[in-house]
Amino acid sequence: MDRTTAGFDQLTRFWLETAPARGVVARLDESLIAALKEHAYPSAVASCLRQMAGAAVLLASNLKQKAHIVLQAQGAGPVPLLCVEATDGLTFRAYANVSETAKIEANADLLTLVAPDGDGRIVLSIVPAVGQTYQGIVGLQHGSVQALLEDYLTNSQQTQTRLWLREDGEAIEAMLLERLPEKASAEANAAWDAVVAQAETMFVEPFMPFPYAQWLQFAFPGHDVKVHPAQALAFACACSFDRVLNALKLVGEAELRPLLEEKHVIETRCEFCGAQYVVSESQLLALFSDATANRVPGTDTLQ
Ligand SMILES: [Zn+2]
Repeated sequence: MDRTTAGFDQLTRFWLETAPARGVVARLDESLIAALKEHAYPSAVASCLRQMAGAAVLLASNLKQKAHIVLQAQGAGPVPLLCVEATDGLTFRAYANVSETAKIEANADLLTLVAPDGDGRIVLSIVPAVGQTYQGIVGLQHGSVQALLEDYLTNSQQTQTRLWLREDGEAIEAMLLERLPEKASAEANAAWDAVVAQAETMFVEPFMPFPYAQWLQFAFPGHDVKVHPAQALAFACACSFDRVLNALKLVGEAELRPLLEEKHVIETRCEFCGAQYVVSESQLLALFSDATANRVPGTDTLQ
């Protein structure tokens, strides 16, 4: 069965002919279960990762070139890092660094997890395959993933943006509405406010049924909703042996030498998907002795 008609993991971009608004809605279901299955995260951590993944995938659907986005929450709390990456191809992966000694309450919010001292940040990076990375940072002032990102997007895109994230078990439904740049008029303001109110109403109901193309018309009564074809979402990890070698090359021979002398191999584990990589002594020696090899395939430090 075509997954975009079956439901579960899909994304639909839409716009309204009758109001200055466009949006994107997605459900992450089995993809989220796959993304988190290698980890036994405390429930509050898993919940924040799910919400960040929902938001990241929506943002990635707006990428106009081959690129990925990295959404991180950073601080000095019991969970100093939550990280979600999503690509223009609508694959994503997620990871949290959880302190082993931390006691985490089931209802802890993002602020309590990441930066209870109030000194945390949300970092959003857009990393194109070619060209410069763009990075935006906002203080982690409160604990709602939805409200933090909504504020950030409204400020950075300089247009009114609303974000909704809701969970049902291990699934997430996420929607973004963006006001189209057109002259502000009383009529346009009223139309935007009405559309936002309709979206609010819809998001107190259970998850939307599929297909979105039909349901969105019910969600915004009185409006002519146009949709782009549904796109499938999936968990996928970008790690590879080449990237591990590349990362080790950056660490440098001097740092790795003591470990190599002790164990004769370097073992690493991908923090996102749990894949194990074993680099033998001969592979490492070849890496550092090969003066003619300027670089290992894959130029970034992703593992
Ligand atoms: Zn991996």
